[in-house]
Amino acid sequence: MPMILEKYSFGIGDRFGHQGKAQLQAMINAKKQGIAITPVWNKSNREHSIIHTIPADVRKEADAAVKAMGWDESYYVDADHISLKNVDAFVEASDFFTLDVADYIGKKADEAEIKTFVQKYKKYVGQLNVDGIEQPIEITEDLISKIADKFLLAVRGAGKIYRRIEAARGKGSFITEVSMDETDQPQTPVEMFFILAALANEGVPAQTVAPKFTGRFNKGVDYVGNVVQFAKEFEEDFAVIAFAVKEFGLPKNLKLSVHSGSDKFSIYKSINKAMKKFDTGLHLKTAGTTWLEELIGLAMAGGDGLAIAKQVYIKAFGRFDELCGPYATVIDIDKNKLPSPQTVEKWSGQDFAQALRHNQSCRNYNPNFRQFLHVGYKVAAELGRGYIDALEKYEHIVAKNVTENIYDRHIKQVFI
Ligand SMILES: [Zn+2]
Repeated sequence: MPMILEKYSFGIGDRFGHQGKAQLQAMINAKKQGIAITPVWNKSNREHSIIHTIPADVRKEADAAVKAMGWDESYYVDADHISLKNVDAFVEASDFFTLDVADYIGKKADEAEIKTFVQKYKKYVGQLNVDGIEQPIEITEDLISKIADKFLLAVRGAGKIYRRIEAARGKGSFITEVSMDETDQPQTPVEMFFILAALANEGVPAQTVAPKFTGRFNKGVDYVGNVVQFAKEFEEDFAVIAFAVKEFGLPKNLKLSVHSGSDKFSIYKSINKAMKKFDTGLHLKTAGTTWLEELIGLAMAGGDGLAIAKQVYIKAFGRFDELCGPYATVIDIDKNKLPSPQTVEKWSGQDFAQALRHNQSCRNYNPNFRQFLHVGYKVAAELGRGYIDALEKYEHIVAKNVTENIYDRHIKQVFI
C-alpha cells in the first residue's frame, strides 16, 4: 500500500525539539472533538543549519512524542523545502518530502522540451470550464508556452529530487509535496493547472502542492493583503486541483498545502469556508509559532525564565542584519518600533508576554518585536544548554502555551 496522506494534516515545527508532546496534545484535543488531524513534524535545512540539528533528531522527537502520548494514528516527518543539494541527509529519517523548486522558477527549459509540452497540452486551447470557477478560463497556445517557459524547468527539478528519494526509499514509501511558495509572484489558477499537468507528465505523484498565494505571509504575524482576493484565488486553486486530478490522473488525495509562516489568522475563515465548500482536505504548515510560545512561557514563568527570554532579545538586538538576512523576503520589521534593550530589561514577564503573544486586540502586542524574535532563534541556540535547561525547568508552563496556541488559534479556526 502506498503511503497516503490523510485529509487534514497540520505541519508543526519545533526548533529545539522539546515541544513534540505539547504539539501532539493539540491534535489529541481535536480528536476529542471528532476532528482527525494528522501531525507532520517539519524542519527545513535552513533551520537545521542554524540550530545545528540533523533530520534524525526530528524523527527521534516525533517517535518519542507519539509513544509518550499513546498516539495511535499516523504521523509524518517532513523534510521541508529540500533541494537536490541537501536531500540525501533527509532520506532516512523523513517520510514526507517538500520538494522546493522555487529556485528554478523563471529559468527556461530546453526549447524542444517546451515545444513538446505545448504540443501535448494544446488540446486545452479555447475556453476551459472548471467546476467551481465562474468564468471559463481562456487558454491560448501562447499562454501554455509562457507557462512552460516559467515553470517547466522547475517541474523537471522536482522530478529529479523525487526520483532521488524514490531510488533511496522505494516507491510509495513517502509523501511528496511540491512547494513553490518562496518566490516573488503568486501563481494564478491557470498556471497551477499546467504546473499540475507538468507534474503528472514528469511522474511526480504529489499529494500536496504549496503555491505562492497573493499577499504577504510574513513570519509569525498575520496575513497582509487583500483577504477577498485571497479567498477567491484560494477557492479557484481548490477547483483547479479537483479538475486536474481527474484530467491528469494525479493522486486523488492531492490537496493544497498552505505554508503559512504561522499565524495567518485573518484568512483562516476563508480557508475554512473554501474547504467546506469543496469538501476537500488541507495541509497547514506552521513552524516558528511554537518557538515564540516557548519564549512567552519562559517570560511568564518569571525568575530565570524571564531573564533568559530577555537575554535572547537583548543579544539579538545588536545583530539585527545578521539574523534578519536569511528571512529578508518573509519579514517586514520596522526597526524604529522595536523596544530598546534598556526598556525590555525593565519589563515584567507580563509585559514581555503581551508584546510577543499574537493577540491583535491587546494594545501592547508588537508585531515588530514578534517578527524579530521569530528569526532570533539562533541566539537561543547559541545559549546552548542554558536555554534547554530553562525549557526543561519550566516545561509545564511552556507546554501549556504551546498546546493552547496550536489548538485555539490555529486548529479551531481552520479545521473546526
Ligand atoms: Zn514554504
